[in-house]
Amino acid sequence: MNAQHVRNFCIIAHIDHGKSTLADRLMQQTGAVDEREMVEQLLDSMDLERERGITIKAQAVRLAYKGADGQDYQLNLIDTPGHVDFSYEVSRSLAACEGALLVVDASQGIQAQTLANVYLALENDLEIIPVINKIDLDVAEPERVAQEVQQAFGFTDDEIVFVSAKDGTGIPEILEAIVQRVPPPTGSPDSPLRALIFDSKYDPYKGAIAYVRIMDGQVPSGSRVKIMSNGSESDVLEVGVFAPAPTSIERLSVGEVGYIATGLKSVGDAPVGDTVTLANPAAAEPLKGYQPLKPMVFAGLYPADGEDYLDMRVALEKLQLNDAALSFEPENSVALGSGFRCGFLGLLHMDIVQERLEREYDLNLLATSPSVAYEVLMTDGEILQIDSPAHLPDSSRIDEIQEPWLDLSIIAPANYIGPVIELVRTRRGEYKRMEYLQQEGTHSTPRVLMEFNVPLAEVLIDFYDNLKASTQGYASMDYSLSGYRSGRLAKVDILVNNEPVDALSIITHRDNAYYQGRELVKKLRELIPRQLFEVPVQAAIGRKIIARETIRALRKDVLAKCYGGDVTRKRKLLQKQAEGKKRMKRVGSVEIPQEAFLSILKVS
Ligand code: GDP
Ligand code: MG
Repeated sequence: MNAQHVRNFCIIAHIDHGKSTLADRLMQQTGAVDEREMVEQLLDSMDLERERGITIKAQAVRLAYKGADGQDYQLNLIDTPGHVDFSYEVSRSLAACEGALLVVDASQGIQAQTLANVYLALENDLEIIPVINKIDLDVAEPERVAQEVQQAFGFTDDEIVFVSAKDGTGIPEILEAIVQRVPPPTGSPDSPLRALIFDSKYDPYKGAIAYVRIMDGQVPSGSRVKIMSNGSESDVLEVGVFAPAPTSIERLSVGEVGYIATGLKSVGDAPVGDTVTLANPAAAEPLKGYQPLKPMVFAGLYPADGEDYLDMRVALEKLQLNDAALSFEPENSVALGSGFRCGFLGLLHMDIVQERLEREYDLNLLATSPSVAYEVLMTDGEILQIDSPAHLPDSSRIDEIQEPWLDLSIIAPANYIGPVIELVRTRRGEYKRMEYLQQEGTHSTPRVLMEFNVPLAEVLIDFYDNLKASTQGYASMDYSLSGYRSGRLAKVDILVNNEPVDALSIITHRDNAYYQGRELVKKLRELIPRQLFEVPVQAAIGRKIIARETIRALRKDVLAKCYGGDVTRKRKLLQKQAEGKKRMKRVGSVEIPQEAFLSILKVS
């Protein structure tokens, strides 16, 4: 189709504000799916996504629409992931569009990810159409939220579209707004191909399938293409569009959105953000902005049963075909045996990977507490990247440890300013600035945007839960990496029965080390079942013990029955005690349950 009649847009929203529901409604209205086919939230295709109601992978759907002017239009809807863990994918999806529907829940107003997404959309020069959704709700305050949206982003009254994605109100108005306000794509039809990969997916038969927006030129089916960052070439097996089922077509032309089945052997070969060109003629320059995905959060994953090690490696390799952001390498722990150190974009990503390994590959896993990646400056001038406390070198050889810091923004009603600032302060955060999103004096408490700097390590563990708790659920947050800073950090070792358990070590700020060490050993004393003998649990920095608890031996009378009795009876009795605690690891002579390895998650 003539690029003049193409409109590429995405939907941006804070999580749960109705992006997927709105996408469904737009597909229904344009006849992309009929009522019978309509499975709610068609775009969230993975089971896990459906269950959790989140969008992990962006998807693209082509809609045919006849405008009020009688013209046929091709609308390409790109669904973006809504979670900070996947913000790079959000930004690539936006770069594939000329316009964005900004969905704001009429009962909630602007939230932290609304703001973050608007900033991304503005950086990409998108035409933003503000949509106030869920106006059918009793508790909806469309007027108040409209005012907030106008004030925060400078929209005028008549730009806002009021919608209920649930009952369909306002959907025709949105379609007209897209055609009239979103500019058609620009780009040169005669230049060599440049296609932006905004998502990719692995298919066992067709290899890496790149979801692309054609910025220049065209890609006919059967042509030989080249990935610009790594130079890998392949013959295109198929090009096509999602309508919404994948439909093969002859060519994708400038301005259009669709997929290229590359035959390459993993999504890592055709990574998000990269540029596809033809092998000949090849474009001289890639599109700007490509950056390889970098894991931010690391944890050890171990098979609960050591015999599953090889299966686990196969499973991780398979997952990685589809998930270029997942990294892993073999790791050995004295306590847990053979496993893998895995890198993730964030905690949600970690959760998803772990759940998929357990669910889709039937593995029982033990996970260690998550850690960030530290930069360690050694006294001899060497710089080490450390993503596991167990790998931290001896403190006498360390000059300085640097840790990642975040720009953190939090939106909450003004009456929670105190508790929010206090919470961030206890996490070593620094207050930067504050801004009211709405004038005081209107009918409800105005909401406030607060900005901080805070170490990533401090928000990894239960920060979000605490934020929700201290604001009765009203706060939302968003963050991005701001850089590395040196900190007074120390490694705290945990000794169980006088043996250091490497998988329990943590790196923490010196000011918190004593408190955390104490809390950790307390927690461990509760979690580790009593043994036949007394078990000391200690926290230490270097050789210095900073906390100690003792797990008392089992009462004599329990064991008395066994004394002199036969060995099997005694063993059975002990076995019974271990029942119900499936995931245990024997460390030296002590059985340690899985919860213990995550006990740091419960200390704050
Ligand atoms: P997303 O996270 O932005 O994709 O949000 P979803 O589309 O998954 O919607 C989140 C929740 O809000 C779901 O339970 C939807 O059924 C509900 N929802 C979405 N739009 C509307 C609406 O217009 N009215 C009402 N009452 N509920 C809605
Ligand atoms: Mg969704």
